Amino acid sequence: MDILVTGGAGFIGGHLAESFARDGHDVTVLDNLDPYYAVGIKRQNIELGRAAARESNSAGADDTRVDGGQTRLEYDETEVPASDTGGSYEFADGDVRNADLVERLVADADIVYHQAAQAGVRTSVDDPRKPNDINVDGTLNVLDAARKTDVERIVLASSSSVYGKPEYLPYDEAHPTTPVSPYGVSKLAGEQYARVYHEVYGLPTVALRYFTVYGPRMRPNMAISNFTARCLNGEPPVVYGDGSQTRDFTYIDDIVGVNRTLMTDDSADGEILNVGSTGNIEIHTLAELIRDTIDPSLGLEYAEQPMGDAQHTHADVSKARELVGYEPTTSIRQGVAQYIEWFRANRDWYEPLVLQS
Ligand code: NAD
Repeated sequence: MDILVTGGAGFIGGHLAESFARDGHDVTVLDNLDPYYAVGIKRQNIELGRAAARESNSAGADDTRVDGGQTRLEYDETEVPASDTGGSYEFADGDVRNADLVERLVADADIVYHQAAQAGVRTSVDDPRKPNDINVDGTLNVLDAARKTDVERIVLASSSSVYGKPEYLPYDEAHPTTPVSPYGVSKLAGEQYARVYHEVYGLPTVALRYFTVYGPRMRPNMAISNFTARCLNGEPPVVYGDGSQTRDFTYIDDIVGVNRTLMTDDSADGEILNVGSTGNIEIHTLAELIRDTIDPSLGLEYAEQPMGDAQHTHADVSKARELVGYEPTTSIRQGVAQYIEWFRANRDWYEPLVLQS
């Protein structure tokens, strides 16, 4: 299959692209290497995607130029060579806000995994326009381009941030959506556009409401990566607020799994699905878990809770289970242990970037 992964140099998109390339698909990654967090991690993701494609078959990966690291609306067509036969990996250094570029890339795709976004609630509180421009306009570009093609499916990354204030927990998809951050509003707009494009134009779309995803190569500005970096540095983890907030942390392998299912399964077309782990944990318990795994002698530090953070997230995944057989398999204990092991092995390049954020 020809697969377009927008935001494929990022954390989740990087894992998706690598997994698809390893299976021998023709993968194109569109990413502008937005420098809002360390571009080095993104370059690493691109290299891993290429390596997976090379391993996947004798045809090997298309060797394309990785260039830039700047947020660019312009794009040089020569940077996307024609797709090769067999498994391949192409990197397009460009912007989802560039409608012409998106149209050209979507036209060549059998399926699109739209991950590109300004992720994270806190950055959206500081700069509310950026997530609107990228997450809403970018999503609209992808959907509108797909409307003009016979693409088999558009799978969008939405977020538990669309729920905001819990009226009951765990959230099912019928729970009211009252986002508490500009980011949550932008993700809600994106998934609603997808639903409408399905209803009005018959476009096969599926929006996945991810619940706090973690694992190797995760964004450095998240609780699990920060706690781990600090503990490995001999410093106590810093917990925001009193730590009684709860999160449904979802391991990256479970996220990759459901996305892979959607490559061929049309049972959820037109739907919005929660994708969480179904377990939730208080943030201070998570900090203790990480600290006790690394160095139990370290204490805990507390800092003021930033605006825009939801107090609780907890997923009811019955709908995803019923429609596409989604079953999260990695517990927080297992996932954190795997992450810490990975972090230790990759300290050389990952840790300085984490501490930088
Ligand atoms: P990420 O920041 O690692 O990945 C996003 C990628 O998109 C980055 O590589 C970035 O360079 C790219 N990008 C940003 N703006 C772009 C633009 N204008 N044009 C092209 N590329 C652009 O984030 P992630 O954690 O991998 O998240 C992936 C998706 O999942 C996002 O849509 C995010 O909103 C959603 N999501 C993530 C989580 C989570 O916990 N990680 C939870 C819920 C939803």
